[in-house]
Amino acid sequence: MDKQYQFIFDHITDMIMVCDYEYTIIVANRPARIVLGKSDDIVKQKCYQVLRQSDSPCVDCPLQDTINSGVIIPLVKYDDRFNEYFEERCFPVLNNDNQLDSFILYAKNITKSRELEEKSSQMKKLSALGQISSGVAHDFNNVLTVVLGRVQLMKKLTSDPHLLKSLDMIEKSALDGASKVRKIQEFSRPNSNTMNESVNLKNIIEEVLEITRPKWDVASKIKGILIEPIVDLDDNIFVPGDSSDLRNAFTNIIFNAIDAMTNGGILSVKARLIDNTVLVEFKDTGIGMTEETIERIFDPFFTTKGVLGNGLGMSEVYGIIKRHNAKIAVTSEVGKGTTIKLRFPAIREKTRAIKQKEPDLKGKFSIYIIDDEEYILETLKDFLFEMGHQVETNTDPVKAIEDITRKAYDVVITDLGMPGISGLELAGKIKAIRPQTQLILISGWALNLKAEDIKNRIDFVINKPFSFEKITFTLSEIEKKLRADQSDSAP
Ligand code: ADP
Ligand code: MG
Repeated sequence: MDKQYQFIFDHITDMIMVCDYEYTIIVANRPARIVLGKSDDIVKQKCYQVLRQSDSPCVDCPLQDTINSGVIIPLVKYDDRFNEYFEERCFPVLNNDNQLDSFILYAKNITKSRELEEKSSQMKKLSALGQISSGVAHDFNNVLTVVLGRVQLMKKLTSDPHLLKSLDMIEKSALDGASKVRKIQEFSRPNSNTMNESVNLKNIIEEVLEITRPKWDVASKIKGILIEPIVDLDDNIFVPGDSSDLRNAFTNIIFNAIDAMTNGGILSVKARLIDNTVLVEFKDTGIGMTEETIERIFDPFFTTKGVLGNGLGMSEVYGIIKRHNAKIAVTSEVGKGTTIKLRFPAIREKTRAIKQKEPDLKGKFSIYIIDDEEYILETLKDFLFEMGHQVETNTDPVKAIEDITRKAYDVVITDLGMPGISGLELAGKIKAIRPQTQLILISGWALNLKAEDIKNRIDFVINKPFSFEKITFTLSEIEKKLRADQSDSAP
């Protein structure tokens, strides 16, 4: 063989052999000689001997399939000598009489790409699960909106202490349900990429410890081990960022710490504000990591937990930490435990929002509500009636637009998801007809509305399930806004 071709032939990482029609290897490239032959020369041996250690041609020989079908059919084979998967292909070479003269046998190690495929199908499953759960969360919000709304209305209608006590209990349970639904939404919602929230890390860490409680408290007790958290957090530590992302990152770190403490132990979580930096430290007394593991900890799909792990937790953490302009450091000692230190740029605490008193609405509005869910529509209508506003409703967006074209309303409240038209689109149409009308969007989805979605369309957003207070507060904001507009335009 020409020197140059020989060089290429030997430097291809896959194994290539040329065999005669009796399966005898005539030529083999370097990888084939090294992998299959060890130190023996494989030339003059039969391909089935070196590939399968068999005494006769393989029953599933891809050459026969290829000759019979006329297309090259690859065969995937697990080789237990190496614990690896190989994909084999045969390319027949015919002589002038169209008879098989020889064939090229090509074998590629596909273990890694198979693993990647598996992981990616796992990821697809996870993302489908996310979509399902966010759909369920949305539907649940609608249910809770009606329950909460009705309870809050009933509380206004009765002064019977027994009834009030029961109603309080129902209200509290519904609110608990709503906060659970919000947790599901936080986890399944797409990254917002909005980093302009001022996140209170103390709150977030406390929430995450609560969310992960089933794993470190309940599950470990069932296993008969004890995992004890020691939590020491400074007050008022604020960082710029995305609360849902941070919750996700801390959950991953805590899950790993719990996984590492197979015989129980102490999980200590500290957060300190030092000068302009927030230091957060997660420390476990678990199995620890070797140097090699620490080195690969942020690699996607790197896991030491076999089928129990997916190796995505820490790579996600890394992405989130980077997006937050934060730093992460991992120290660990085998048998002793692991410490993960995070360092965030801090923001100085803003003047705390003064808690709003129940606002006193002076103006009464004419309000139009559009929602395809009749129960929600009715509940909201009763709310607003109760407050003394004039209310009209419609479940049909097209009819609503007709009404609004005929008559001006101070406020229009619209649901986001409706058949045929989205609340955003509807809001745009209404604003085009009535630019003065204030638009409130209500939604049961975990919203990540971008500025351009809202601009010139939506004035306020209210999430489901909403409370009496939230509606009153929003209306009072509208009143303030309208008053300010009036005084702006006054001579
Ligand atoms: P997974 O948890 O699915 O294995 P991760 O990306 O979360 O994936 O973590 C990757 C690997 O890093 C883990 O398999 C484990 O070997 C190691 N690791 C991470 N955190 C710890 C910890 N606190 N203690 C010991 N090992 C850890
Ligand atoms: Mg993990």
